[in-house]
Amino acid sequence: MLQTLRRIVQEVNSTRDLSLVLEIIVRRVKEAIDADVCSIYLFDENETTFTLMATDGLNSELVGQVQMAHGAGLVSLVAQRADPLNLDDAQEHPRFKLFTSLNEECYHGFTGIPITHHREVLGVLVAQSESRVRFSQDVVNFLVTIAAQLAGSIINAQATRQIPVYSTQDVSKIRQDYRPMSGQPGSSGVAVGKAVSIASSVSLGAVPDRPVENIDDEINIFRSALESVRKDIKSLSFQLLSDGLPTEDVAVFDAYLLMLDSNTLIESTINKIKRGNWAAGALRETISEHIELFGEMDNPYLQERAKDIRDLGQGIFNQMQGINDLPVDKLSNDTIIVAEDISATLLAEIAKINISGIVLKSGSRTSHVAILARAMGIPTVVGVSELPIMQLDGSQLVADGYSGKVYISPPEHIIKEYSRLISQEKELSQELRELTDKPATTLDGINIPLYANTGLVADITPSKESGAEGIGLYRTEYPFMIRQRFPGEEEQSKIYGEVMTAMAPKPVVLRTLDIGGDKSLSYFPIEEDNPFLGWRGIRVTLDHPEIFMIQLRAMLLASKGLNNLQILFPMISTVGEVEDSIKLLERAYDELLAEGHKINKPKVGVMVEVPSIVFQMRRIASIVDFVSIGTNDLIQYLMAVDRNNANVAELYESLNPAVLIAIKLVIDEAHKENIPVSVCGEMAGDPLAALLLVGMSIDSLSTSAASLPRIKWMIRNCSQSEAQELVEKALVMKDAYVIKNMLTNSLEKKGLGGLIRAGR
Ligand code: PEP
Ligand code: MG
Repeated sequence: MLQTLRRIVQEVNSTRDLSLVLEIIVRRVKEAIDADVCSIYLFDENETTFTLMATDGLNSELVGQVQMAHGAGLVSLVAQRADPLNLDDAQEHPRFKLFTSLNEECYHGFTGIPITHHREVLGVLVAQSESRVRFSQDVVNFLVTIAAQLAGSIINAQATRQIPVYSTQDVSKIRQDYRPMSGQPGSSGVAVGKAVSIASSVSLGAVPDRPVENIDDEINIFRSALESVRKDIKSLSFQLLSDGLPTEDVAVFDAYLLMLDSNTLIESTINKIKRGNWAAGALRETISEHIELFGEMDNPYLQERAKDIRDLGQGIFNQMQGINDLPVDKLSNDTIIVAEDISATLLAEIAKINISGIVLKSGSRTSHVAILARAMGIPTVVGVSELPIMQLDGSQLVADGYSGKVYISPPEHIIKEYSRLISQEKELSQELRELTDKPATTLDGINIPLYANTGLVADITPSKESGAEGIGLYRTEYPFMIRQRFPGEEEQSKIYGEVMTAMAPKPVVLRTLDIGGDKSLSYFPIEEDNPFLGWRGIRVTLDHPEIFMIQLRAMLLASKGLNNLQILFPMISTVGEVEDSIKLLERAYDELLAEGHKINKPKVGVMVEVPSIVFQMRRIASIVDFVSIGTNDLIQYLMAVDRNNANVAELYESLNPAVLIAIKLVIDEAHKENIPVSVCGEMAGDPLAALLLVGMSIDSLSTSAASLPRIKWMIRNCSQSEAQELVEKALVMKDAYVIKNMLTNSLEKKGLGGLIRAGR
């Protein structure tokens, strides 16, 4: 069964057309379980009906025509209960509804399995038999397994259905009843533009068709990729043989070479290019035809060959990708980049061109790509798990970085609505710019300094222009990430010095190296099963005092004559770690004094990111100068939700009462020791959450330069006493949803509704 299951899933995943996907499923499943009928009904939200989408066994002429109202028939019963139904005689069941035209009269045995994706029933997989017997439990289990695996593929294919193959397709012909794809807000703002897909690590199977301009060029691209792969394979095989590997083990490479030289592969691809498809699309078609041929056969040896062909195709495609990595010539200011994920360096390269937005399949609001995009002010949607990356290339997109929605080839009215929003935004930004030199003081006179978060020296100008009163969080890992080795004392000192000089006399909080988790250094790989619960932040630097001391000394040296340095320790989970870190800092300081440097002692703070120290706040506050709450991680660890995992992103909620209670506890306990508390996580840049932080008597906030003006506007238009009342109400509320509603209403009543959209 497992093998059959794998085969079906594989076949489905390599097919892009929804109706074909469904046909494959019903055909293969019927065969596998030896049923008389297998059908799929999908739920249509607009019509609130279930439509027969594919069948093997019933009258297939009625596919797309038979509709069952929600609440009638066995199919909808399965969906309502979201539970399998297994009957020996369906016709005896009170909910049975006969569709005579389907030729269903002769079938009695019935099992219906809901197809569910993220708690939503998408449809029902039905098997029927002539005999009056229930399907065996084994069959039901198999169908449940297959339905669970196929839900994602169906969603994917459903989404693809909305997408024109070629960008020239008339938008008005696209179905109007589609829904946008859902992701997570990555960076505020709205982008309307054309998708440019980036094919990094994309599987050949997902490559789209694309019309070709110069056929000869495409043929050359294909041929030169073939040649490179051929050379690689030859040298690899030679290498392995000289390393003493037995010839028979290396024989597979000979097979690869034979395949590469096979006329069918070369001719078939070239013919497809000549018919107008680009090299990668033509290759995908050829390879999938070959795979299908072998995959059809049940002989395990031949099936292995199908795998070889797939690998080989991927190798050729990768070579081609090397030829056009970043399509720089295709980027313009109405480009929306669409990708699985992009690295910080690629983002930096892309940002040089003033693109309009970014949509990513992976990531979440607090992943580092999103943080960088926010710092750069690029509207971004992340975690769109259904995103068919390569098929989107050239399509018109609307990316809503506030709600996390992505509209593909939307109808005119949606484009108009969002374009209107973009112009409103521009006006609001203008108003916000006028606040730059004004203080962040509440209506009742409480001053809450706003600092900027950064990690790039290049960010300093926007930070200063945003009116930040200093840098509240400088993530030092970026300078480490873009190098091939650990930067030395002098190198680091130079970087920190640039930041501190640019901001002086305003304070700069330098955070010590916070690697591990999702931030890795190519030259210092950390491989763990649970990296977020592993060797991260201060745990790494305390275990490597030589690395830590260089950084501490570099920071202190850079502060010479400036005296605006504050040092922050990340990922603290015990009091002992704080004590040990302070000891090392003192050692570094004493060393420098002994070497004759005149340096002032910096203030020292800890980040509150791990729940354990929430409960030891009073003691911690008694040994540090300030506390900074890193809500990105604090929420992750409090809620046990991986901050980068799109599957659980809905649970990641800064307004969850448990999060608010923890933050209030930190502020209250630290204040008992007269220690100021700041929030430097993304929560500080969300006007609704920031309003509550004001009510909890937060001392300062640190956020991206892009969100800072809005937060200032909110602070200048609210009073701390009002905010305190909101906190009291929020802390006894059930969940984030009701808290959000209360805060939204309150801001709207004050005429600050524009901020809410802008900040979420
Ligand atoms: C945080 O965890 O809130 C934080 C600011 O640190 P980072 O996002 O760099 O992990
Ligand atoms: Mg953190």
